[in-house]
Amino acid sequence: MKVLQKRNVSLKNYSTFRVGGKAKVIYFPQNINELLSLKKYVFHKSPFILGNGSNVLFSDAGYRGVIICMKRFNSIKLNKDKVLCEAGTSLFQLCNFCAENNLSGLEKLYGIPGSVGGAIKMNAGAYGCEICDFVSYILVFKDGKLMRRKPEYFGYRKGPLQDNEILISAEFELKKGKKEEIVKKQNDIFKKRLIAQPYNLPSAGSVFKRGNGYFPAELIEKWGLKGCVEGGAEISEVHAGFIVNKNHASAKDIVSLIRKIEDKASIEGYHFEREIIILDAD
Ligand SMILES: Cc1cc2nc3c(=O)[nH]c(=O)nc-3n(C[C@H](O)[C@H](O)[C@H](O)COP(=O)(O)OP(=O)(O)OC[C@H]3O[C@@H](n4cnc5c(N)ncnc54)[C@H](O)[C@@H]3O)c2cc1C
Repeated sequence: MKVLQKRNVSLKNYSTFRVGGKAKVIYFPQNINELLSLKKYVFHKSPFILGNGSNVLFSDAGYRGVIICMKRFNSIKLNKDKVLCEAGTSLFQLCNFCAENNLSGLEKLYGIPGSVGGAIKMNAGAYGCEICDFVSYILVFKDGKLMRRKPEYFGYRKGPLQDNEILISAEFELKKGKKEEIVKKQNDIFKKRLIAQPYNLPSAGSVFKRGNGYFPAELIEKWGLKGCVEGGAEISEVHAGFIVNKNHASAKDIVSLIRKIEDKASIEGYHFEREIIILDAD
């Protein structure tokens, strides 16, 4: 069985930061048989599992390990009143499908540019709503085996997946609602995002997690770092929790701004925990 693969491709096309050197190889399986057929050595090398790349920063030197991109696992269907959705489905598709089927619950997540797999891994959330609260079952792949289980032990930006587990699909349990009301809520949330976030420039969302009783973005602004520039990267003028790729930024530019913020936080007595995942080339 031949699994679609791309070699020596620019990672700029696989991350919403639009940054990164070349990937040695990216595999794009589209079903479990294809995933299983990837030779064992691929899994021995701890491949990096990629969704939509909206929470990762690839290195300027690229990535020399193996990447498995889950985007082609993208089926979505209704099973009685539950939504069964594969990991590569985008959150936009999932939310639109829910609206079409009069299912309410995920509206506040509308506009997060991730896949279902990345969102569950990160327990993505917004405006007081977190995705894992609506997940009744997950199907995961690890060590060549499939396992279906309830999602347990998840919290703020930490989903129920263990190390090296690949999310294949998830089942969502939602409430009955009215399509028009669901669509309106989604559109209202999306409008809010467009005002509050630098949606028109490449980024990976909030760089840091919320702290215990504080918001990094507010402190970054208070410390006068909003708008700070390094090469082509900028601490966003719109939302100081975002770093944006304003003008052909390199990963190095973005990392310099992250370190600048972390150094200042440390001087002020804070420890900012990173939300985005920074990958070295090896
Ligand atoms: C403009 C913008 C706004 C954003 N707003 C929000 C927001 O409001 N709230 C929020 O929480 N986040 C937000 N984000 C961040 C990001 O969109 C989310 O974290 C999203 O859920 C990541 O999904 P992804 O598919 O892009 O994951 P990726 O970036 O591809 O990967 C993220 C992590 O998930 C893992 N992963 C991906 N797929 C799988 C899988 N199938 N199985 C196992 N592991 C997997 C990866 O290995 C990696 O560790 C925003 C980002 C942007 C660019």
